Amino acid sequence: MKFEHVTIPEGDLIQVKNGQIEVGDHPVVGCLRGDGIGLDITPAMQAVVGAAVEKAYGGKRSIVWCPVYAGLESLQRYGTELPQEAVDVIQYLKVAIKGPFTTPIGEETHVCLYCAHQQYHGGTCDKCGKTDGVTKRFRSINVRLRQMLDLYACVRPIRYFEGVPSPNKYADKVDFVIFRENTEDVYAGHDFERGSDVALAVINLIKEMTGRQIREDSGIGIKPISEFGSKRLIRKACQWAVKQGLPSVTFVHKGNIMKFTEGSFCKYGYELVADEFGDKFVTEKDLWDKYNGQMPEGKILAKDRIADSIFQQIQTRPGEYSVLAVPNLNGDYLSDAAIALVGGLGLGPGANIGDEVALFEATHGTAPKYTGMDKVNPGSLILSAVMMLNHMGWNEAADLISKGMGQAIKDGHVTYDLERLMRGEGRTDVTKVSCSGFGQAIIERM
Ligand code: NAD
Repeated sequence: MKFEHVTIPEGDLIQVKNGQIEVGDHPVVGCLRGDGIGLDITPAMQAVVGAAVEKAYGGKRSIVWCPVYAGLESLQRYGTELPQEAVDVIQYLKVAIKGPFTTPIGEETHVCLYCAHQQYHGGTCDKCGKTDGVTKRFRSINVRLRQMLDLYACVRPIRYFEGVPSPNKYADKVDFVIFRENTEDVYAGHDFERGSDVALAVINLIKEMTGRQIREDSGIGIKPISEFGSKRLIRKACQWAVKQGLPSVTFVHKGNIMKFTEGSFCKYGYELVADEFGDKFVTEKDLWDKYNGQMPEGKILAKDRIADSIFQQIQTRPGEYSVLAVPNLNGDYLSDAAIALVGGLGLGPGANIGDEVALFEATHGTAPKYTGMDKVNPGSLILSAVMMLNHMGWNEAADLISKGMGQAIKDGHVTYDLERLMRGEGRTDVTKVSCSGFGQAIIERM
């Protein structure tokens, strides 16, 4: 396959057949460097992945990186921030990893093509002084990539690393993965202004058809949650639990209040495990009715929790959860609340996954003030690469990275952000390292 600006390097193309990924020994993987500190964290991640794969497979396997251009880098090459070619290449390669992308805030914002600094005028960048590359605002590349590639599952693993200061007493028990639906609920929502024709028509329609009253001065919001959208998300969560050998999947919902959106999401979950995973799962009801509360060997527990209670449960009993399947809006809140439990966003990895394509990503932004300083924490992107290796079935290399990072943090060899937190907790044996230095600290401890 030929592309205009992207040259696909020699290597094995990843295939997806009947939902199963097939990976050769030298897979070609897309790499979108991202804007701002993407410049710093991407090479650090590649160095760590390269070392882990080499150590795990003794030269028999390697990743062949294929640069894919989007964001500020692509504005320089193609004159547009998200060329169709970037989407086509990711679709073709099936697996890619990305740094953060700038989304200019506000109508009048301009962005520096080099350092990603945002300002309210064109011309020279106020931060880095470059004059030839300040561009006007555009829509979120992240959101568009998810939509164009139909990446319907936003996957966020949340786990604790020993030594990271956390506000939670049970942080060491936190080790779960959130599957947040990425296309429906408020993401496909419609919001109608109070007094608008549609808002008034909906108010009248509801009154006519149900007799229920809504105040005339109400804005009206509609949040669709479909069987199709819910089941494909929950299916991914269940497949993950099966593949990774995890003990439970929890459907999170607000079905006590919204029975036919949130409540149906939960119902679809139980239907799906019965129809498609039959003998692999037992429900919480079965557990007590049939097994006297003792989990049968080798089975996965399917359970559900009301959204407000799960916010308490992940703080008070985090060890009881391993995979959580959640509709869009509650999944948004839950992901950020959960990552705070284990010390904040710096170490939160992520992925957006569809039927064929998986795009792994750092979950923080471009932090433009640190661009090119080799200073920031590359942990989020490195842990996203761990997810990517797991997705490819290269678990040995993934485990080496997790182990190396865990040990580097435990030893206090960390970037400025964690150093500050650790010293704040009274630790004195902390060594501040650079972004690339943190990568090296991981490699030395694999
Ligand atoms: P941000 O995450 O870029 O930065 C906020 C602050 O967090 C930084 O100033 C820095 O102090 C700290 N920080 C972030 N990443 C860090 C890291 N890896 N190591 C150490 N410290 C780190 O958020 P923002 O300032 O709100 O957004 C800046 C830009 O990033 C915006 O254009 C926004 O749209 C974009 N953004 C992109 C993504 C994404 O691509 N997934 C996510 C969030 C924000």
